[in-house]
Amino acid sequence: MAHRISSEHVDSKTKQHTLSEHIDQYQLDLLMETAQPVHKARLMSLNLPLTGAWLNAPPNSDLGFKLSSRHFSVGLCRRLGLPIYSQIGPCPCCGKEENDIFCHHAVLCQKGPDHILRHNVIQDTLFSVCQNAALSPRLEEPHLVGPNKTRPGDVVIPNWSMGRTAAIDVTVIHPVQTNTIQMALKSGTEPIEQAEESKITKNGQICAENVLDFIPIGMSTFGSYGPSALHT
Ligand SMILES: [Zn+2]
Repeated sequence: MAHRISSEHVDSKTKQHTLSEHIDQYQLDLLMETAQPVHKARLMSLNLPLTGAWLNAPPNSDLGFKLSSRHFSVGLCRRLGLPIYSQIGPCPCCGKEENDIFCHHAVLCQKGPDHILRHNVIQDTLFSVCQNAALSPRLEEPHLVGPNKTRPGDVVIPNWSMGRTAAIDVTVIHPVQTNTIQMALKSGTEPIEQAEESKITKNGQICAENVLDFIPIGMSTFGSYGPSALHT
């Protein structure tokens, strides 16, 4: 049932921003009532803190905040649920799946460059921020937990807390993909929370045995964060 705006919301003392909040909520409720599941899950993800922060960032090239017109347009289309492609076509990367007009497959395609590039850009940005904060970070340090191939930390920070080293691991999920959309329809945060918990299940024990604080940083492709990421 949509949230209705009644006279109690518009008395003479009502501030403009309060009225705007009610109008926004009313319009969101209307959208949620009629949206297809994939768009409803998108709205659930976008209705979380900080997902619109990039729209308020000053377009400063030195800070890496400036987007090209093309990147800005694609980002805005994904946020608004508008088509990016004019028609469905075969994926040029994997050759198996169809590229839907909203780019959901393109974001996920295991043969495409996006999922690796997206992870690495976030990892490198996190590393750079830690460098600027004089935290002496190390990037993808090998043999952190012994002579095996496991690398539980994309960014490793010595003396993080109580003299312990932190292993920070970035994970990015696309909430509307098949195996998470049901969770995303129940709660916008649940798919990201589960991704963070999966990382803890995989790496938490071995990090603890090696006196490391393991910190998963879960994000969604819509710009929302998991509880561990927000807390950190
Ligand atoms: Zn593909």
